[in-house]
Amino acid sequence: MTEVFENYNIKNESSFRIGGTVKKAAFPSNSHEFIELLDSNEYDMILGNCSNVLFYSGKINKNIIFTKKHNSYRIEDNKIKVSSGTLGALLSKECLKNNLSGFEFLIGFPGSFGGMIYMNASAHNQSISDCFISAKVYDLKAKETKLFSKEDMHFNYRYSELQKGSYIVLEADFELNKSDYETIKTTMDKNTEFRKTKQPSLKYGNAGSIFKNPPNDSAGRLLDLCGFKGQKQGGAMVFENHANFIINYDNANSNDVISLMYKMYSKVQESYKIELRPEIKYIGNKETEEYKLWELMATENIQMTQK
Ligand SMILES: Cc1cc2nc3c(=O)[nH]c(=O)nc-3n(C[C@H](O)[C@H](O)[C@H](O)COP(=O)(O)OP(=O)(O)OC[C@H]3O[C@@H](n4cnc5c(N)ncnc54)[C@H](O)[C@@H]3O)c2cc1C
Repeated sequence: MTEVFENYNIKNESSFRIGGTVKKAAFPSNSHEFIELLDSNEYDMILGNCSNVLFYSGKINKNIIFTKKHNSYRIEDNKIKVSSGTLGALLSKECLKNNLSGFEFLIGFPGSFGGMIYMNASAHNQSISDCFISAKVYDLKAKETKLFSKEDMHFNYRYSELQKGSYIVLEADFELNKSDYETIKTTMDKNTEFRKTKQPSLKYGNAGSIFKNPPNDSAGRLLDLCGFKGQKQGGAMVFENHANFIINYDNANSNDVISLMYKMYSKVQESYKIELRPEIKYIGNKETEEYKLWELMATENIQMTQK
């Protein structure tokens, strides 16, 4: 049954472990309950595992549907049907047990399938679009379900059709490749090792890469050249091993993170004439100062020029 909470504290819902309260939080446990909530017109947004978001640290004037409990899956031969709230990391382990290749990059990955399809998540030369066949989506305007093929999704780097804002993933179908246990395991172990050495562990709150890579370059490289590794703002700090991660090392709030991001954004723009765009999503209230700072970074109003 759907669980609904008023004035819900969302700090521990997000991988950043930053955030205040939302007006209402609903947790549907199946597609039927999910559609009922979407039909009600009461909710402002849908979130999965909140591993790509920064919540405002005060009161957020929003009602949010969280898909975490909508998390069933079925594996038949090399075909997988998965509900939007299912975690990628969990399914990658199931694929290993079933000798299926295609989700090796999801080992240790914090996203849910809804969030990963929305972002076209990728790592280690694999992406969610590779094995994607179709998704049952809910059309918020027409108030009906539709089947989206891979072509309908218009997948690109950190992009899918869902980002236009009208469609919500209910469940998705994938077709993986048959392989053998040892080959899959070896790749997964390599991926795990890479994450351990190059990325912050979730011991420190973080939301993965902060900025998207600009065309033909890497945000981490540019930020490193600007000397950001280890720089602090309040309780937020640029990760010492990779300049495109911010960690919550000491009870950071959203203002610490946005102020630090704005310094990073401004320095790269000043030094290289490149505007970095946030990869993470900010969930806050329009009237606040930090929202205005966020909009400056997130709005693509100036043509990106490179030296
Ligand atoms: C330690 C760490 C490592 C990471 N490494 C990577 C990496 O290697 N590669 C990578 O691509 N990302 C990475 N990320 C970022 C993040 O995990 C991905 O962006 C992931 O796809 C987000 O999934 P989520 O379920 O947490 O989405 P959320 O953060 O909950 O939401 C992200 C967006 O998806 C939308 N959304 C969520 N569910 C649905 C749905 N059912 N229908 C429509 N829209 C929906 C939300 O509205 C929101 O705009 C990392 C994050 C962390 C913390």
